[in-house]
Amino acid sequence: MELHDLTVRELRQRLAAKEVSSAEVTEHVLRRIEQLDPHVGAYLTVTADQALAAAKAADEARARGEAVHPLAGVPGGLKDNIVTEGVRTTAGSRVLENWTPPYDATVVRRLKDAGVPVLGKTNMDEFAMGSSTETSAFKKTRNPWDAGRAPGGSSGGSAAAVAAGMGYWALGSDTGGSIRQPAAFCGVVGMKPTYGLVSRFGLIAMASSLDQIGPFTRDVADAAELLNVIAGHDPKDSTSAPGRAPDFTAALKAEAKGLRIGLPKEYFTEGISAEVQAAVRQAAAELERAGATVEEVSLPHAEYALGAYYMIVSAESSSNLGRYDGVRYGRREAGADVPAMMTATRALLGSEVKRRIVLGTFVRGKERLPEYYMRAARVRTLLRRDFEQAFEKVDVLLTPVTPTTAFPLGRRVRSQMEAYAADICTVAVNLAGLPALSMPCGVGADGLPIGLQFIGPAFGDAQVLQAAYTYEQLAWPEGAGRAWRAGKEVDVDGH
Ligand code: GLN
Repeated sequence: MELHDLTVRELRQRLAAKEVSSAEVTEHVLRRIEQLDPHVGAYLTVTADQALAAAKAADEARARGEAVHPLAGVPGGLKDNIVTEGVRTTAGSRVLENWTPPYDATVVRRLKDAGVPVLGKTNMDEFAMGSSTETSAFKKTRNPWDAGRAPGGSSGGSAAAVAAGMGYWALGSDTGGSIRQPAAFCGVVGMKPTYGLVSRFGLIAMASSLDQIGPFTRDVADAAELLNVIAGHDPKDSTSAPGRAPDFTAALKAEAKGLRIGLPKEYFTEGISAEVQAAVRQAAAELERAGATVEEVSLPHAEYALGAYYMIVSAESSSNLGRYDGVRYGRREAGADVPAMMTATRALLGSEVKRRIVLGTFVRGKERLPEYYMRAARVRTLLRRDFEQAFEKVDVLLTPVTPTTAFPLGRRVRSQMEAYAADICTVAVNLAGLPALSMPCGVGADGLPIGLQFIGPAFGDAQVLQAAYTYEQLAWPEGAGRAWRAGKEVDVDGH
């Protein structure tokens, strides 16, 4: 096993045994980024000096025999919509091209306090709007396993970084699938926690009632490790859930007996490719053979989720993005008077962002509010009830993450509707505020990973992790994010 391919826990063991130092590991990964990232394009900014300084500090603390945090000295990356003090944070947009935040997001503060080296900021769709990372104003990110394919999005840079060994973990954000879908496309584990579990303080807002920060890792137990650092109440986020978060690693045991699994029939329809459906059913069958029970369940309002999501996400985004007016944040373009300056500044936004602002401003207009936004809000309640009813009978739901394996780069440009439709399996989870995890469960005919989604009830994050861990131990004990690719090298020539 190559050094950059280890899990967080494997690396931690080597650090604790002093077989390798965090400075050596961090240098190794930074070198890998230097060599590989010109081909992959996962990072927008690399913070080598900061990462090395944190690595050395962790080494010194270990050398002094201090009780260091389990993640001390284990380097990873942050999606570029998570603000970092003194380090440029762009959200993939020209408007924030040169914006350097004066503070750290709460999740960043917690990671730094734990002695975690941050390698840099990863590429993303502009303001997290997209499913392929192609709406980034700065560059393309390629899928590490097929350079002609998209890494998914909007957290495509974070997924690609973890998949390609350019970081042991990464954080992303998920508003409608932006952690789970790129995790599925790049063959790694990605988790969207329950809304309110992880602080949004310092996350550049897209749709405030849907956004959540979560981890990308190479296996399920590593996701629990990361969640342990970032979860828990934060007085700086008014939607943060009260109380202490549980210890997510303590909950991990591989136990299929007694696990009740539901397969929602609405997620196995003609829009989802046959090979994806088959792979998900096979995962359910493996868990069943090991002692779990599997039954079909129904989420009757699932078909309205996509429409409601695009109403709500656009309405909230158009409101949140009003602040990029050239007055308070980021770039200001010249104009003869204030309205001209604002117009010129807003012209820096890309077409996907403009499309959502126009749609969102329309649906939350006073006369149209009841017909569009309020109706979408009611659908949201119905969906939440659908899930609650399903969770009276089962512990977790098992579904596909995406209709297909990673699609080719450039597809988005051809069909906007097709791109929105690809979010069909992920958006209902955000509307209902639930926890969900995406992990590889097989390989498609094209040799690319197929994603499997575990969905749990609100604040059942430990339950989701435990079910996913049970499946991983059965099917991919060496780590789902490594096993499916069986020694495959990162694709750098773009065939
Ligand atoms: N693809 C979805 C969208 O474009 C999801 C975005 C997200 O989760 N940030 O809205």
